[in-house]
Amino acid sequence: MSDKFQVVVIGGGPGGYVCSIRLAQLGYKTACIDSRSTLGGTCLNVGCIPSKSLLNLSEKFYSTKKFSEEGIEIGSVKLNLEKMMKNKDKSVSTLTKGVEFLLKKNKVTYIKGHASFKSGTKILVKDNNNKEKIIETEKTVICTGSESTSLQKVNFDEKKIISSTGALSLKSVPKKMVIIGGGYIGLEMGSVWSRLGSEIYVVEFLDHITPGMDREISKEFLKILQKQGIKFYLESKVENVAKTSKGMTVKYSNKEGKKIDIECDVVLVAIGRKPNTEKLNLGKIGIELDKNKKIKVDKKYQTNVKNIFAIGDVIEGPMLAHKAEDEGIAVAEIIDGQAGHVNYNVIPGVVYTSPEVATVGKTEEQLKKEQINYKIGKFSLTANSRAKTINETEGFVKILADSKTDKVLGVHMISSHAGELIAEMALAMEFGASSEDIARTCHAHPTFSEALKESALAVDKRAIHS
Ligand SMILES: Cc1cc2nc3c(=O)[nH]c(=O)nc-3n(C[C@H](O)[C@H](O)[C@H](O)COP(=O)(O)OP(=O)(O)OC[C@H]3O[C@@H](n4cnc5c(N)ncnc54)[C@H](O)[C@@H]3O)c2cc1C
Repeated sequence: MSDKFQVVVIGGGPGGYVCSIRLAQLGYKTACIDSRSTLGGTCLNVGCIPSKSLLNLSEKFYSTKKFSEEGIEIGSVKLNLEKMMKNKDKSVSTLTKGVEFLLKKNKVTYIKGHASFKSGTKILVKDNNNKEKIIETEKTVICTGSESTSLQKVNFDEKKIISSTGALSLKSVPKKMVIIGGGYIGLEMGSVWSRLGSEIYVVEFLDHITPGMDREISKEFLKILQKQGIKFYLESKVENVAKTSKGMTVKYSNKEGKKIDIECDVVLVAIGRKPNTEKLNLGKIGIELDKNKKIKVDKKYQTNVKNIFAIGDVIEGPMLAHKAEDEGIAVAEIIDGQAGHVNYNVIPGVVYTSPEVATVGKTEEQLKKEQINYKIGKFSLTANSRAKTINETEGFVKILADSKTDKVLGVHMISSHAGELIAEMALAMEFGASSEDIARTCHAHPTFSEALKESALAVDKRAIHS
């Protein structure tokens, strides 16, 4: 096969593989280059998929232990961590193979290796055996994603000082784990290991967890996690992480400036992710980066070099798989001369803890900052009959609607199945729904979705069940 393509996509994660498939559907001779041994990027290999697998399995383990409280006696419940990890690995390998199949089915050429720019139209690919070849292309889409950031002078060994990648593959359950950072990745991994038996301590620099989330939801979420046994040190700054003869010590200073040591077995650093822009030789072709080293693009995902585009974690915006996927489709259609578009006002976000947390649209804090007048409708899950029936009454739904037009501007919720429920709200927002529209939509009984309808009714202070 010739090494000349119409479009080369660098990165086979959710942004890159989806973009490659859409380009191929549109008739472009496309290659997708990825340096990992399997396709699917961070999301499938060391992100969304393995974390959700472990969240599901650990939740089963934890809730099974509590069955007797509901009158189901099943004897002792034991953890087989090795088997649990194998189960997780199986989900990952099935899905990564699935992506390879999809590329093949759509006639995308999959090239395994590390890509860097030789020029604006020539890409050097180095495979695992350091064998090099040059690929020629008319256009390139960079979807190289991101990787975990560490603290200064703290290097991941993925055994004692771990990133989320290490947290997905620990060989035994740590007695004590300190998590630096109270964002969603740290909290999801903290939930997994807490359910499996670890004592979890979260040290967070800010005075709240899950930065960017609606503050009322974030406060309630904190309370729920504390009730589950996770300990939080907010407004605390980690000064040092050190290996000792016994294990690890994390030194942090609290808001009064007092320095405190926590001894633990494992430290998970979950302070954020940085874009993979360093090893692409972008300087050679003059591609501009922003102050966070993300690739600068315009509304059409075009860089300052006109035949080179970028999407996903490597550009501005929420670092989420579905955002990368939607951009993948949009940029392919833009390359084809169509009107590809992503509505950044309606990108849902989900934290897959128990209960789940899901949000879409503006938070109250954003609306205040933007001086938009809004009404609030809230409904507690304690008044939802399905939640009561299955003893899952934690949380609430909150709808924010424009004071004048009643248009839904944001929906935030903590609830079982919130990650699924949020899709209805995203769809409603895409169609420009008012809270009245949601309130007048018939919702099946008894379901958690009735809490959406009730909170929509509550916007006009006419909820029935509260
Ligand atoms: C623990 C964890 C849990 C997460 N959970 C969720 C979740 O539940 N939901 C959600 O939406 N998001 C989640 N995310 C975030 C999600 O994984 C990312 O937002 C998403 O993978 C970004 O997609 P991408 O295509 O931009 O990049 P990536 O998925 O990072 O893919 C980029 C690919 O490019 C490859 N690459 C990089 N440089 C080169 C090069 N020079 N040459 C060739 N290949 C290269 C990389 O190896 C990688 O395979 C999670 C992330 C983590 C770490």
